[in-house]
Amino acid sequence: MRETLVLNASFEPLATVTLRRAVVLVLQDKAVVEHAHPGLRVRAADIDLPLPRVIRLCRYVRVPFRRRAPWSRRGVLVRDQHRCGYCGRRATTVDHVVPRSRGGGDTWLNTVASCAEDNHRKADRTPEQAGMRLLKAPFEPTPSDALLLALGAAERDALPEWLAVPA
Ligand SMILES: [Zn+2]
Repeated sequence: MRETLVLNASFEPLATVTLRRAVVLVLQDKAVVEHAHPGLRVRAADIDLPLPRVIRLCRYVRVPFRRRAPWSRRGVLVRDQHRCGYCGRRATTVDHVVPRSRGGGDTWLNTVASCAEDNHRKADRTPEQAGMRLLKAPFEPTPSDALLLALGAAERDALPEWLAVPA
């Protein structure tokens, strides 16, 4: 099922909806298409729309509560753009900065993308103990970033540049 990203009127990512729901919002003049699949259109009786990838609500919606971004290994790799937090090379694993055996948790601030070699070398030690330095501190993605992270890689790569996940 194709998902469409919904932006608030302020351009802040809000949610993802099914393509069908996105088309309904546009047809009801509640949203406009900000970014469409190139060359694909929704055609029905008297409808002819570009297939929306990103829509933006016409009216600003107040969001009283934003769910925090749920941690995931995949999310950490995406957040760090598959670059090792210790050497900058391609990362395929997730390292716990404070090892789990020492009480380190599965949290955004305690995990970084890591290449297999560095992960193996660091083993069950903190970076200080292993004599390794993080190139930059891990951070917690905002709920908006998390939404973008939750999109599939192909969908994310197709987003317009101004919506890209910050490095
Ligand atoms: Zn590395």
